[in-house]
Amino acid sequence: MRDEQTIVAASRHHVPAPPRLVPGLGPALKRVMVRTSLSVRARIGAAAQALADACGTSGGEKSLAAPGGSARNGGFAELPAYKAILKHREIGRVFAIADPFYRTHEKRAGVETWIDGRSYVNFASYDYLGLNGHPAVREAAQAAMARFGTSVSASRIVAGERPLHRELESALARFYGVEAAIAFVSGHATNVSTIGTLMTPDDLILYDELSHNSVLVGAKLSRATALAFRHNDVPALTALLREHRHRHRNVLVVVEGLYSMDGDVAPLPELIALKEAFGAWLMVDEAHALGVLGRRGRGSAEHFGIATERVDIWMGTLSKTLASCGGYIAGKQELIDILKYQAPGLVYSVGLSPPLAAAADAALAIVAAEPRRVTRLQDNGRLFLSLAQSANLDTAHSEGHAIVSVIVGDLIVAGRLAARLLARGFNVLPIIYPAVPLKAARLRFFLTSEHTPAHIRATVTAVREELDGLGRRQRAA
Ligand code: PMP
Repeated sequence: MRDEQTIVAASRHHVPAPPRLVPGLGPALKRVMVRTSLSVRARIGAAAQALADACGTSGGEKSLAAPGGSARNGGFAELPAYKAILKHREIGRVFAIADPFYRTHEKRAGVETWIDGRSYVNFASYDYLGLNGHPAVREAAQAAMARFGTSVSASRIVAGERPLHRELESALARFYGVEAAIAFVSGHATNVSTIGTLMTPDDLILYDELSHNSVLVGAKLSRATALAFRHNDVPALTALLREHRHRHRNVLVVVEGLYSMDGDVAPLPELIALKEAFGAWLMVDEAHALGVLGRRGRGSAEHFGIATERVDIWMGTLSKTLASCGGYIAGKQELIDILKYQAPGLVYSVGLSPPLAAAADAALAIVAAEPRRVTRLQDNGRLFLSLAQSANLDTAHSEGHAIVSVIVGDLIVAGRLAARLLARGFNVLPIIYPAVPLKAARLRFFLTSEHTPAHIRATVTAVREELDGLGRRQRAA
């Protein structure tokens, strides 16, 4: 399981205090600090283990109070979640790595971004087709704001419905070639609410182990039996269906069109055949596939040449290619009706704000009208991947769409590499445990249609050089 939230929540270590051990830190990290005779490699290993211990902490030192006893809450600082944050901060201090998270960007973060008054080539935003700030998108948002204000000031079911919502949803339904669509105020809430509404404790959810956190939260909310299958492993999913299908009323299989951590695609044709054979529903999260996969950017269905109605639930976000904020579900009318009247994230939450709905609608029109943006993005993805492979960088499963991860292994190496690249003018984020396995720390590059081949060449060269430099330093230590 992985998600951006985990990455950032677990990784704030920017307190400008002198190097000092925080009381209560685990023994493994203390060893890192005091045993200077340890090699750098061993210190990194110990730090990683200390981090794993902290993130896996179950209940802190406090014992649970006996029934009827005088139980009192401890402070927030006693929560395991906070201790894990302290551990990350301490590791940052020990290894002199500045906190890469929650950095403030001072202008629109497109292919270029500005941090502390300096410009960087940016690989950390998923504005895949460069539509954030596009004049037509901006003007649509401004016109919507002028007419409707910044908020619809109510849930849509009561007094928050505006023509903009209907226009966006009709456009999404047309884009997918399905009966209807519905837009939520957040992509995360879309998955949580949709899965939580459709599935019940009698049901079964089978999800790819690399599914986004929102899928897991939705599954938890539904109280259905939820089982992960190995990433993109169709035989493993088949085995689970064989073993469990008959015990449940409805079964939902959830995958992502393009996986945002590894940059590989789900094997949709096989998944469709399987869900049809077992009489299950298939939900495809197209957060990173819309505008990215398929010749015209229509996503997984176009990529594989399959009819969109063979997938039961198309999910996507407005926050990536569509340069807005929110999420959507597209599919059959009855599915959309259920969500419109039952999904808590819709019924009990304010409607999408007018400028955001208008921006997404305008961006979708540009995706449809300007397929050359998609071509440029796809060319960039292929170029980055082939250069990275030629430079012997470990790109694991990346298929060269819009996301390429460079696996470096140790989390300290990932943090240092990102810091060195920043110093050279490239903004890319390290992804570390617990977002990815302990030994699979990486840098994740989001490409856009607006990167140039020169940006890409310079970046791959810099990654190779800095990685070599870190390796030399480590061997010398
Ligand atoms: N699904 C996937 C696959 C995602 O990567 C994300 C977030 N990046 C979401 C859902 C949630 O979308 P949002 O950030 O728009 O809430």
